[in-house]
Amino acid sequence: MQYSGYCQIKKEYIRGENTPSAETNASFARIEAADDLNIFISTREESASREARAADQAFSDRNPGRLSGMTIAIKDSIAVAGEKLTCGSRILKDFISPYDATVVSRLREAGAVILGKTNQDEFAMGSSNENSYFGAVHNPWDVERVPGGSSGGSAAAVAAGLVHAALGSDTGGSVRQPAAFCGVVGLRPTYGRFSRYGLVAFASSMDQIGPLARSVEDAALISEVAAGVDPNDSTSIDQPVPEYSKEMKRGVEGMKVGLPKEYFAEGLDPEIRERIDFTVSELKKAGVQFCEISMPHTDYAIACYYIICTAEASSNLARYDGARYGYRAEGGEELLETYKHSRGEGFGTEVKRRIMLGTYVLSAGYYEAYYQRAQKVRRLITGDFLDAFEEVDLIIAPVTPTTAFKIGEKMDDPLQMYLSDIYTAPSSIAGIPGISVPVGIDKRGLPIGMGIMAPHFGEADIFRMGYVVEKLKVKG
Ligand code: GLN
Repeated sequence: MQYSGYCQIKKEYIRGENTPSAETNASFARIEAADDLNIFISTREESASREARAADQAFSDRNPGRLSGMTIAIKDSIAVAGEKLTCGSRILKDFISPYDATVVSRLREAGAVILGKTNQDEFAMGSSNENSYFGAVHNPWDVERVPGGSSGGSAAAVAAGLVHAALGSDTGGSVRQPAAFCGVVGLRPTYGRFSRYGLVAFASSMDQIGPLARSVEDAALISEVAAGVDPNDSTSIDQPVPEYSKEMKRGVEGMKVGLPKEYFAEGLDPEIRERIDFTVSELKKAGVQFCEISMPHTDYAIACYYIICTAEASSNLARYDGARYGYRAEGGEELLETYKHSRGEGFGTEVKRRIMLGTYVLSAGYYEAYYQRAQKVRRLITGDFLDAFEEVDLIIAPVTPTTAFKIGEKMDDPLQMYLSDIYTAPSSIAGIPGISVPVGIDKRGLPIGMGIMAPHFGEADIFRMGYVVEKLKVKG
């Protein structure tokens, strides 16, 4: 499945061979034809057609924006004014956002055409998109398999050719893992690089919005539009935003890359390992230097991640009480009963599990043993990365231990599901950026992603490497 990226299509727009309206109409026809994949929670034909016509006009006036006529889908935990914002949950199933997320309004101003909101794991908790009130999403490469999660709808939308690109969010891997499972490019930016104003919170010390796209160049272009400080998000950082799509073309000769030995150990699918080894050998020919590095605290990352994210989720999700907004259970005699029933009926199993775990690790008597300890481990894991980046410019590693698994395969075993995050959670804990770039397919015909990580605010180098890696895939 190879579709032209937006940057190619934009050339067609400029030459007058294609128009944003034609692309938008074709996208809606494909969305309808792909209905069985259950990718979208809501679509917005009328508003999108209007936006597409504005983009047509911009091209005929020879004054297009950076993203004019890019068709884009938005994860349903990111606010788009006047559209549903369900977060894949029953508790918000009819909630309409009164405003745009900052990132959404930046894309809109640059000319993007927003087609709709994508399915996801409830409140972004999951690795398979099966934890959605709206049902599982099917992987376009094999409909019996999951697309990954939690941004499964966004990744599948790009992979199935329904949109040029999509936005997802990544707390512990939710952009990179579905990107790997669906054979598309997915970036988790540095913590603070993109504004999170309008992203519904799951674990606030790790949540980041990130792009999913058909090419590294498209992901770079979206990032240069979306990134940057925002007065509405005090965690966004005031650092200049490079022109990633230009910087990316500087080549990789002389770059130093570390391969963490703990990431290439037991549990990694041999076919994924093989593809990464092949990519590494090709990069060596292109003048990249490789060395083995060690990240000694990797083994603790999953435990650390699931203590911190559940603690933060239990606090963030306290606001859904059936009183202020969202689903309210009928028939409660008194306030406490209404709270209990609204939350009991409104949240799904995984969300409840996490609220309970999070409440437990924060409770008096357990706080020091779990939450505080996890914070100390977080520092150690971050230290592993900071030490590594003293020696190397980038780190290359697998994104997932396996390729896409079957729908239903891990649903009864939450611990197995949590282990899907083993290669992505550590960098989330450290707040550094990471990307998944497709590097081939396995014997079953399923895509394989490779991860590239950089120091804080090192996105430009990630794109540089990703741009070269993406080209190798064609040959390999
Ligand atoms: N799979 C991880 C989890 O369930 C990551 C989710 C995410 O990044 N939103 O928490």
